[in-house]
Amino acid sequence: MTEQTPSFGIAVGGIRDPADRASIRRANLGMILRHLQDRGPRSRTVLAKETGLPKATISSLVAELSGLGLVREGDFERDTGNIGRPRQSVELYGHGVCGVGVEINVDYVAAIALDLCGNIVFNRRTAVDALGLGPVGTLAAAVALTDEALKDLRGQGIEPVGVTVAVPGGTDAGRGSITMSANLGWHDIAVTSALREGLGDQAPPIGIRNDAQLGTIAEYVALAGTGVRDMLYITGDIGVGGGIVSNGQEMLGFRGAACEIGHMPFNPEPVLCGCGRRGCWETLIGLGGLLAHAADPDDAVRDPWTDREQRLSEIRRRAEAGDERTLAALREIAASLGYGTAMLVDVLDPKLVVFGGYFAYLGDFLLEDVQRTLDSRVLESAVGSASVARSKHRFTSALRGGAQLALEAVYQDPSSVTRRGAPAPA
Ligand SMILES: [Zn+2]
Repeated sequence: MTEQTPSFGIAVGGIRDPADRASIRRANLGMILRHLQDRGPRSRTVLAKETGLPKATISSLVAELSGLGLVREGDFERDTGNIGRPRQSVELYGHGVCGVGVEINVDYVAAIALDLCGNIVFNRRTAVDALGLGPVGTLAAAVALTDEALKDLRGQGIEPVGVTVAVPGGTDAGRGSITMSANLGWHDIAVTSALREGLGDQAPPIGIRNDAQLGTIAEYVALAGTGVRDMLYITGDIGVGGGIVSNGQEMLGFRGAACEIGHMPFNPEPVLCGCGRRGCWETLIGLGGLLAHAADPDDAVRDPWTDREQRLSEIRRRAEAGDERTLAALREIAASLGYGTAMLVDVLDPKLVVFGGYFAYLGDFLLEDVQRTLDSRVLESAVGSASVARSKHRFTSALRGGAQLALEAVYQDPSSVTRRGAPAPA
């Protein structure tokens, strides 16, 4: 995950051998790149001041990054409090490289590619009946879409440096598999090897991650420059998931399964959850919970074959028209969401709680109540409660996070990218 404050001054100290020198150079290239991503364009002088590296080193690092096509000269700027001549700034460029996020979900597969500046350079979603197709058919659909993405990107002259697959369930990153997905009904399914076989030699490195964890990365990256380093992400779809960033670090737990918040036993009714247990929070506030309150079983919004966004937009239309049943259902959701969020805030003490998925889409009907619940439960009124915010990424947070995680390869080793973005020969 992107760290907001890289460890500066890594070049200071005794350099023992050329291998050290090379790895320090790599680390410094990555550090400059990340610094520009987090804080925006700035002059070499400011970079030197902020990173503690000598100006000559900065100039040489910037020249190398520029040669790799990852930064370029930006506008002229005057340093604060300096009446001298304006200095040319350096800015992130990197339109020649991208990361790809691929999402496998119950009713679709989707792919988004982001270049180094965060621009979307590929975006496609295909309706897929994962429950009907099963793992083999669904993974074949994911291969087809990823293949389409890679060909399209290379056609644009943009080199994909990696792919991250987002899935609604637990993952084993080492084996590249889904350990368990209640929503897909998959147990121990190899994912990355299936993609690698399907895509052949042209495929960049492929990883796998839980979708809510990837959403957390996307939301945290979007907070760059705001000073927020403690964040809780809560996202609502058919399932409910989330992620924690504490002091700028993603908290994953020892099995990498932290923040399975949807399965906390918050429902006093023993309603069966997709995970096999009863009374999970998800059974109250997941999309199924909302729809069960808001509509009769034969209502079109409860038809699982209708596109989810279409169904949600109908719920939204009804709420805006003042339909009492819909509004009552949303109040129910807001109450349960507020109650659970308050417990999480007491445990984790985030500065900001970002809501994604349908909680964001219907946020204007939900989040004021949630904020009120948090404010009414503050332990230290002088300090205040956590603030509540809506994701700006609609339903693409997991995909964006996947693309951003894939781009980590560039930050780890910028010199692995050649001028036009193609991976350097090993
Ligand atoms: Zn559960």
